[in-house]
Amino acid sequence: MNRLDGKVAFLSGAARGIGGATARLMANAGAKVAIGDVLDERGRQTAKEIEAAGGQALYVSLDVTQEVSWAAAMDATLKKFGKLDVLVNNAGIFNGKGVEEATLDEWNRLVAVNLTGVVLGTRAALPHLKQSAAGSPHGSAIVNLASVAGLVGSQLDPLYSLTKGGVTLFTKSTALEFGRKGYRIRVNSIHPGVIDTDMGQQTFAMRARALGSNDTQATRDVSTRMHPIGRLGVAEDIAKGILFLASDDAGFMTGSALVVDGGYTAQ
Ligand code: NAD
Repeated sequence: MNRLDGKVAFLSGAARGIGGATARLMANAGAKVAIGDVLDERGRQTAKEIEAAGGQALYVSLDVTQEVSWAAAMDATLKKFGKLDVLVNNAGIFNGKGVEEATLDEWNRLVAVNLTGVVLGTRAALPHLKQSAAGSPHGSAIVNLASVAGLVGSQLDPLYSLTKGGVTLFTKSTALEFGRKGYRIRVNSIHPGVIDTDMGQQTFAMRARALGSNDTQATRDVSTRMHPIGRLGVAEDIAKGILFLASDDAGFMTGSALVVDGGYTAQ
């Protein structure tokens, strides 16, 4: 179950956090993984660790906001591994400011990484995913990282929420477009609750600052209480969901939104 033997996956923003955990899990499940990030040192280290554990990994420097950077990343992946079966659009940033506080530059940056990055990644990978889908019984797959903030409102960061809501509907719309065109590329989104990564920790600090305090333990506790399951998520919780969506076990899923949130949106 949930195997990726013989498949090649490209993951953006996978130097650390959810992407890093997913690259490790996918390599364990038999995939060759290409990791793209702006954090070169951390990304090279993650690829090295995967190789040391017996997997096959490549690190490529990638800024998801730049079309030329995507083209170079795809070239390097194809050169090393010969094909592409799975794209994980994972790179993302959080801002943590309200509508009145965020600057126009901050908003433009959120759009560039969280939205333009997903569109450019999809476009760059598309010819390769189409080609591999044509020769595979279950087609190829794209998994987009949205958020619970792409399903319900976020009092902390409405601009982030706007970008993740965009990812949710871009996922459904590309699933429909590629289906109509007969590409056999499944496109699904995943919606994490609060996950204890660098970004998660950034949200605790920002929530504290918004309340005029620097007690991040208190805001971590508030975040934990928002999850009926009684804990925050860890990167591996989300990696398992991404692996499932990328695998042939999800062969009848496209345009779906997989919620992995400890009950956050059930309330
Ligand atoms: P993270 O900050 O630990 O990792 C994000 C990665 O994206 C980093 O390695 C970063 O360098 C990379 N990145 C940022 N800008 C980039 C760019 N321009 N080009 C290439 N790479 C870039 O965060 P994470 O928690 O692992 O988040 C991964 C994804 O999951 C994001 O899309 C995030 O919005 C989403 N998400 C996270 C949470 C959470 O609570 N942590 C919740 C819901 C959704």
